[in-house]
Amino acid sequence: MTLGKMRKRSVVLLFVFFVLLFLIVCRLFYWQIIKGTQMKELAERQQTNQTAIIARRGTIYDRNQNILAESATVNTVVCNPQQIEKDCKDEEGNVRKSDLRLIASTLAEILSLDEDDVYDKITRENKFQYIKKRISIEEADAIKKLKDSSVDKETAKLFSGVYFEEDSKRYYQYNLASHIIGFTGYDNDGMQGIEMTYNEYLTGRAGAVLSARNAGGTTAEMQYEVDFDAQKGDDIVLTIDGNIQAILEKYLEQACIENELKEGCCGIVMNPKTGEILAMATKPDFDLNDPTALLQYEKFAIGMDEVIELTRSENDSERNDAVAQIRNKMWRNKAISDTYEPGSTFKILTAAMALEEGVADLNSQFYCSGSKQVADRTIKCHKHAGHGAEDFAHGVINSCNVVFMDLGLRIGSEKFQEYFKAFGLTQRTGIELIGESGSVYYKNRMSETDIATSSFGQGFSITPIQLITAISAVVNGGNVMKPQIVKEIRNSGGVVKTFYPEVVNKVISEQTSATMRNILEQVVSDPNGTGKNAYIKGYRIGGKTGTSEKGRNNDKRIASFVGFAPADDPQIICLVMLDEPQTANKYGGTIAAPLVGAIMEETLEYLGIERQYTEEEAQSISISVPDVREQAVASAKQMIANKKLNIKVVGNGDTVLDQLPLPGVNVSENSTVIVYTQERDENKKVAVPDLTGLTPEQAKKRLSDLGLNFEVGGAGLAASKGAYAFRQSIPAGTMVEPATVVSVEFRHSASD
Ligand SMILES: [Zn+2]
Repeated sequence: MTLGKMRKRSVVLLFVFFVLLFLIVCRLFYWQIIKGTQMKELAERQQTNQTAIIARRGTIYDRNQNILAESATVNTVVCNPQQIEKDCKDEEGNVRKSDLRLIASTLAEILSLDEDDVYDKITRENKFQYIKKRISIEEADAIKKLKDSSVDKETAKLFSGVYFEEDSKRYYQYNLASHIIGFTGYDNDGMQGIEMTYNEYLTGRAGAVLSARNAGGTTAEMQYEVDFDAQKGDDIVLTIDGNIQAILEKYLEQACIENELKEGCCGIVMNPKTGEILAMATKPDFDLNDPTALLQYEKFAIGMDEVIELTRSENDSERNDAVAQIRNKMWRNKAISDTYEPGSTFKILTAAMALEEGVADLNSQFYCSGSKQVADRTIKCHKHAGHGAEDFAHGVINSCNVVFMDLGLRIGSEKFQEYFKAFGLTQRTGIELIGESGSVYYKNRMSETDIATSSFGQGFSITPIQLITAISAVVNGGNVMKPQIVKEIRNSGGVVKTFYPEVVNKVISEQTSATMRNILEQVVSDPNGTGKNAYIKGYRIGGKTGTSEKGRNNDKRIASFVGFAPADDPQIICLVMLDEPQTANKYGGTIAAPLVGAIMEETLEYLGIERQYTEEEAQSISISVPDVREQAVASAKQMIANKKLNIKVVGNGDTVLDQLPLPGVNVSENSTVIVYTQERDENKKVAVPDLTGLTPEQAKKRLSDLGLNFEVGGAGLAASKGAYAFRQSIPAGTMVEPATVVSVEFRHSASD
């Protein structure tokens, strides 16, 4: 082909292209503008054939692709009685009653409805009538078959006045992370949480099928069809780990009941290195599948009886007020919306500032007499008798207020405020959830008293998300990370947007961070540490207790604890805040530390982080009871001794017939295995004693005196002084077989 021919051909192609484009535009104009009104009328006259296709809302996944929220399409069966009447007319124009009966009985059978009710609906004098809402897939398939003219033309014609309407329903299979996910309203728009912040992505685009035929009822065929495909919304992948979320929620629910928390509680589990939120929960919360229902809230709410009673009031305004009050509470994400004085957990930041600024080091010596005079005020340490002489690390381990006041004054107003800002405490973290609150803090130059009290976390208010973000920076090497909740947005075409960890600020050096990790580990592992209730055998946990006052001169407290692990290379950090406990001891060290210990233990196990026991711990870890049945007594004795267990022989025979505990049961060192050379008396049972308040030694003796075995369970440094039994695995009074293992959890009374 010559160049000239090619050019000529291009011109022709271009011309054809423009002609086609022009035709398409004309066609569109015709449909949209000229025929638009006519189509609309047609559609109104013949609703039968107009169907809106609702776009499926995007799915919300956790980081492991577990579905946390998804939409399913549901069909509703409707009919146009006027159309049905027309379809049932014979050639003379008389309605065949038998046909109407046939339609009613067929539908009634498929949809499990009463035939007379269906008959009544299809014979009404209107154009639109619901027959059954939200039908099953099987029901829909059966009706589709009736309407299929390739199956049976006559039947299809008879059922042409019966059709479907599509609707979309949101399902939350696990019912987890309600405050993160939020919910959608009747119009399928997000109202809270991710459903709201990412509504634009999740919604998708609705489509429609609009068709009209035989509109005038004459024989002239008129067929129009316009078809817009619905486009499914984008999917959102969260940073949340559904398993860790479930662990956190389980323990927070337990904490609500156990500590009678008047204002509930919240917790956050995060990756301190990346800022990814692995779990975040507030309890009590709401049911994702029924977000306005109060049931789930009522289950864990304490001290709300009067308001709950009013939600059942006959008086409209009284009832509405009460319902509104509870909904405000149950929809509130405390982890990002509540501001509070952090109390002693804040000491982590003061200590890091002091080390980084060089106003103190590990050799610095302090003295606590129980209080300190600052300007015209005498400010007390939580230990009124005083901690005496202590070095920097022990100031933190003891959580000594006097040491922190000294540090604060050395840091000074200017530097303190500089760090406060650098740690991100003067602004919202920007987490992509609805309702994050800002903090309340000193904006002008701080007085000495202001600094002294601020150094131990009083005089300003921040949110839990701000605090955990700042403390993450202290233990991760010094980087303030932006808390991240969304990992990825994607659709059928692939990834739409990926979110990456974001460093907001570098506040302290790696060296200061390493020193702080080490000291904070001692807070938990030291026999005198204020955080020893969070101790977990085999895991290196670092942490800090906190107890905040809610206003002065009342006994309303917030007990909190922040923990991280493994202490030398933190993979997770967890903050828990218990709001207004009604327990006798309201200190974070007593009630929040063991909770964080338990949450972290399960989380670390789930993440597959291996335990590394100290020599002392290695001796007390569980031993699996060997199978000595059918062995000679002498060899049974040897086998049991080899496992560092004790034996008790019942009977005078030579061969072991039975044993307790059974093979494979885990017991601790020096536990007793009973072997029977005679038939075991199945009726011989022992009542489990009440061990509450006993020391580990006392509890062990009480159990062994009764022929029962003892084991230390749960979080807490049981081996240290002052440990008392708090909970036992088998309730007192339960009748059990001899040698049964009773696991006992120990706690310490903390004063911080
Ligand atoms: Zn002190």
